[in-house]
Amino acid sequence: MEGEQVSLTFEEARAMHAECCVLDLHADTAKLMDKLGYDLAARHERPMPTRVNVFGHVDLPRLRDGGVAGQFFSFWTTPYPERGCTRSVSAQLDALDEAMAKHPDDLAWTRTGAEVRAAKAAGKIAALGGIEGGQALEGTLDAIEPFARRGVRYLGLLHFSANAIGRPAKGRGSDATEGLTGFGRDVVRECERCGVIVDLAHINRKGYFDALELATVPPMVSHTGVLGVHQHWRNIDDEQLRAVADKGGCVGVIFARRYLGSASIEAVVDHLLHIIDVAGDEVAALGSDFDGFVVPPEGLEDVAALPNLTVALSRRGVAPRVLEKILGGNVLRVLDSVPAWGELGPA
Ligand SMILES: [Zn+2]
Repeated sequence: MEGEQVSLTFEEARAMHAECCVLDLHADTAKLMDKLGYDLAARHERPMPTRVNVFGHVDLPRLRDGGVAGQFFSFWTTPYPERGCTRSVSAQLDALDEAMAKHPDDLAWTRTGAEVRAAKAAGKIAALGGIEGGQALEGTLDAIEPFARRGVRYLGLLHFSANAIGRPAKGRGSDATEGLTGFGRDVVRECERCGVIVDLAHINRKGYFDALELATVPPMVSHTGVLGVHQHWRNIDDEQLRAVADKGGCVGVIFARRYLGSASIEAVVDHLLHIIDVAGDEVAALGSDFDGFVVPPEGLEDVAALPNLTVALSRRGVAPRVLEKILGGNVLRVLDSVPAWGELGPA
């Protein structure tokens, strides 16, 4: 990459995080808070050994250590029975609300770029909400607005199984020939009305392009790898990357060994650089999937280690101007360009 190349030390990377706005698009921590009573405000030693280090990656002290300004908390549900999914998302929102009520000086709900910047200026971690899997709607459009009011800023249309919206890339009910359903199309429109960004992680290729064709505002892919680096059914191809770029969206690279194809932190760099090569430097972002039962690579064992990635990127020649975009600038741009709907408040 051009000019201004600097190879950063960990401390310099940390200092850069303090200056810019670092945002991660995907962590499943709220489920741990809801189901296991995981205390977001307490510092946790990583509970699992490295090879099965599948959760316990995120808490407020380590978000601060990592220099993270904002974290998307993604609310996921087991889809069978579909009934109960709306309630399950609500319970995860309750758990986050409760943490916020207990620690108002440390954590704040945010939805817009301005709110994220204000939280950072006030010394708080910005919390943003997302849903993983459209089964959370239980087949009704009416569920979207109340979720938006509670802070949900993106909706992942699919997860690991078919739902009323469409088909997953793989899993129960997958079918590459089927795209979005009629209801799925209505969901994309209703999301736009409510200021909820469409997240295309996990959806099959046909549904992906159906959703993009309908979208009038930037979408995101909150957590994924890319096929240009590693062949895995979960990853997306170059055409999918360019299509998101054309819509002004962003793509968060997942920190999961199996989708990266390697246990090395350099693999995360490879996936990010491939996105830049194919789709330009306005698209690449971070989508760790921390606490999502994935094993992160060496050097990224938890969110506190995030400056290691900034160091690794700088060593591969990524200029500070581009680093800031990858670390959060591209996500802020998407947040700024999709107006949030109404005011935060009770459902
Ligand atoms: Zn996922």
